[in-house]
Amino acid sequence: MRRFIKVFRRKWASISFARKINIRLNEPIVSFTFDDAPISAFENGVNILSKFGFGGTFYISLSLMNGVEQETRFTVQHLNNAIAHHNEIGCHTYGHTDLYTLPFEKGKGDIIQNQEEMDKKVPGYTFRNFSYPFGSQTRAIKQFVSSKFRSARGIEEGINLNGADLYNLKTVKVYEHRFSPEYLHRKIDEVISNKGWLIFYTHDVMENPTDWGCSPGFFEDVVQYCANHNIKVLTVNDALNQIEGNS
Ligand SMILES: [Zn+2]
Repeated sequence: MRRFIKVFRRKWASISFARKINIRLNEPIVSFTFDDAPISAFENGVNILSKFGFGGTFYISLSLMNGVEQETRFTVQHLNNAIAHHNEIGCHTYGHTDLYTLPFEKGKGDIIQNQEEMDKKVPGYTFRNFSYPFGSQTRAIKQFVSSKFRSARGIEEGINLNGADLYNLKTVKVYEHRFSPEYLHRKIDEVISNKGWLIFYTHDVMENPTDWGCSPGFFEDVVQYCANHNIKVLTVNDALNQIEGNS
C-alpha cells in the first residue's frame, strides 16, 4: 500500500508540476549517469568512458563519503579525477534521503547541505543537475529543485523525447542482473531512430556487481555499442547545452 501511495505521489508530483522541454535534435544523445556513487563507478566507470573520449554524470550524496559502506566511500581525489576527465558531478542530496518521507524544509535543507559540503571538498564547484534518491519526489521538492538545478533525473524507465519533463527525466537502468546486453542495444537502436535523449544509469561498475550495478565488461559493451554507432555521448549538463542550442 505504501508503495502504491508513493508511486501515486510521484505521479501526482509529475502531473502537478512539470517543466516540459523541447527536444528537437538532428542526432540522438546518450548520457551515462551514476548515482551515490560507489568507488568502482569513479574508477572503472571513468576509465571506460575516458577510453572512448566520453564523460558521464555522477550524482553524489556527500554523506556517503565517510559512511559505513566501504564501496561508497569515494574520496576528494575521486571527485577531482572525474572532473579532470570531463565528467560532471551532480547532486543526489547530502544524506541520500528519501525526499518523500521528509517534511519539505528538511528535504530542502538536505539538498542545500550537499552543496555546502561540496564547497569544502571541491571549492568553486557548483552542482548543476540533480537526481532524486529512490526516484522519490513531492510537488514542493520538485518545485524547489527546479529553482536550484537545470534538471532532475528520476528512475522511471524510458527515453526522453520532445515534451519530456525536465524535472523528472526518464532513464534506462544498466543493471546487469536484470537486463541483457541485447535489451540495452535495442534501447540505443530506439534512440537512434527517435532522435531523443537516452540517459543510462547505474551504481557500481565492478566484478560481481550488486543488483543495482554492472561489471566493467557489461558497462563497456554498452559504451562500445554507442561508439560503434557514432552516437554523441555527453554529460547531462552538456546534453542540456546541446538541446537548448537546438531548440
Ligand atoms: Zn541513490
